[in-house]
Amino acid sequence: MSGDARGGMERHSYDVVVVGAGGAGLRAAIAAHDSGARVAVVCKSLLGKAHTVMAEGGIAASMGNAYPEDNWEVHFRDTMRGGKMLNNWRMAQLHAQEAPERVMELEDWGALFDRTEDGLISQRDFGGHKYARLAHVGDRTGLEMIRTLQQRAVALGIDVFMECTVTDLFKADGKIAGAFAYWRESGRFIVFDTPSVILATGGIGKSFKVTSNSWEYTGDGHALAMRAGASLINMEFVQFHPTGMVWPPSVKGLLVTESVRGDGGILKNSEGERFMFDYIPDFFKDETADTIEEADRWYDDKKNNRRPPELLPRDEVARAINSEIKAGRGTPHGGIYLDIASRRAPEFIRKRLPSMYHQFKELADVDITAEPMEIGPTCHYVMGGVEVDADTQQSEVTGLYAVGECSGGMHGSNRLGGNSLGDLLVFGKRAGEAATAYANSLGDTRPQVDEADVKAAQTSALAPFEVEGGENPYTIQSDLQQSMNDLVGIIRTASELEESLSEIEAFKARAKTMVVEGHRQYNPGWHLALDLRNMLIVSECIAKAALAREESRGGHTRDDFPGPNAEWGTKNLVVNLDAEGTGVDLHEKPLPEMPDELKGYFA
Ligand SMILES: Cc1cc2nc3c(=O)[nH]c(=O)nc-3n(C[C@H](O)[C@H](O)[C@H](O)COP(=O)(O)OP(=O)(O)OC[C@H]3O[C@@H](n4cnc5c(N)ncnc54)[C@H](O)[C@@H]3O)c2cc1C
Repeated sequence: MSGDARGGMERHSYDVVVVGAGGAGLRAAIAAHDSGARVAVVCKSLLGKAHTVMAEGGIAASMGNAYPEDNWEVHFRDTMRGGKMLNNWRMAQLHAQEAPERVMELEDWGALFDRTEDGLISQRDFGGHKYARLAHVGDRTGLEMIRTLQQRAVALGIDVFMECTVTDLFKADGKIAGAFAYWRESGRFIVFDTPSVILATGGIGKSFKVTSNSWEYTGDGHALAMRAGASLINMEFVQFHPTGMVWPPSVKGLLVTESVRGDGGILKNSEGERFMFDYIPDFFKDETADTIEEADRWYDDKKNNRRPPELLPRDEVARAINSEIKAGRGTPHGGIYLDIASRRAPEFIRKRLPSMYHQFKELADVDITAEPMEIGPTCHYVMGGVEVDADTQQSEVTGLYAVGECSGGMHGSNRLGGNSLGDLLVFGKRAGEAATAYANSLGDTRPQVDEADVKAAQTSALAPFEVEGGENPYTIQSDLQQSMNDLVGIIRTASELEESLSEIEAFKARAKTMVVEGHRQYNPGWHLALDLRNMLIVSECIAKAALAREESRGGHTRDDFPGPNAEWGTKNLVVNLDAEGTGVDLHEKPLPEMPDELKGYFA
């Protein structure tokens, strides 16, 4: 590892710095290395602990192993329809075309996927996908993906700065010049001199109280990009996964994989009704079974039957569950029943869903092979993120790239299950290559970090230690999470969104005077104070865009504007930091025009 200590501050120089060591960051770093770059990966948790490790169900790729009639065109169509046609068509196309090759490559690098009887990579069913196309490793696919990528990155000798958080980006002449970070353990600062930064920081779930996301998902990449001058799109679209645990309270929100439904599980209300048949929207009527008999036949004969309504896209299922609970047909702990016990043999459940079996046994004392689970919606994924060029993942800021969950456009208004892991691989590779090509193109004329900017970043990071008598960041975070859950959750109205925006203003005022005690050595209160700045700005983006979009589409449901609106279906909402740098500006932008040959798939 290179670098020298100057005045107590470490300094390193790279061609490409990747912020984040999830699937997107690791794949980008490998691509940058393979393209000849000197590359570093910086991540705020330990290597191997990124959120990707939690992914359960699988990677969507039209390899055609289960259904030879599957191909990229069908996957592209499913992705666009799942996103309610708001996706960036070019990203959806590239993703569908390149995902199979990225999965095969992962296998070449040592990933051990589950197999079909004839030795091919097994592919399972998931909501919104016409054919079984999720390559998987039991319900621990993310673990295998991270293990494989991490092993390769380490073998290639890529430098990794772990437990190290990036808090600022530096620019010179409008282009990226470097990044500023601190070691979480010592609190010491680091400057990275680099012309290319790839943000791969994941999502924003920790802004909500009930979430499947871990502590790291505080929207850092979203906020870093905005502060550097980039735009975010689609921020109103937050995916509430239909099936999170609702009991016990300590694990409320923890994910119950969609594979439970893909493998035969059904949803029932407290009256024992399989209620999803009452919630099939017109848009999906032609391809969804409308009787229990047809739905059940589909598991064995997919060619001659339509899909069960439990496998509608996540936004539809989450809204249906929410309605049943609101109508008083919920379970004792405020959820709905997810039943696989009465549908599949115990050995099948234990083999296909080993993590779910243990999760419920250990955390809720429920044996899912013998009794139903209690589940309810949980904040899971953000479709919105940094606006990027589809082919290179470069943002509007020269030298700044974004990939994975922190980028926007690929999933439109709603992501299909399995499409995130494919997204990480396809666009991680593209971003790593593009960032390296740009760095190489600069020759000896790289933008230089201004020392005044380093000083400013240091002052800003230490600001919470300078305040006296203010509030603790934990109290503000907890109030923000409750407010976002109550006012910007699964069902939204103008009055609640307006209330949320004024609450966010109040949280911002409180955050200005928040105080942290102690010193810089491993100080979680200080870490949270820095993360909270990002959570607040990202929450404002979500609430502001949600108020502006007067329709219901995908992961954005307005009680006062039920149903989609054709005019809104033609545009994105774009958010930027305002001129003062303290709030959010918003404007509309037409969607990129889809070429006629692709429009043909939706005729
Ligand atoms: C429980 C669960 C199950 C899921 N199952 C599936 C599935 O089966 N299929 C599917 O397609 N998708 C699934 N998803 C979604 C998918 O896992 C995520 O969208 C995806 O893993 C995100 O990957 P990423 O590389 O963008 O970010 P992550 O994997 O979250 O990595 C983010 C990285 O950024 C680092 N970081 C963040 N901020 C900073 C900072 N300021 N400085 C330095 N480093 C920083 C973190 O430390 C981490 O290393 C699931 C999600 C969850 C929560």
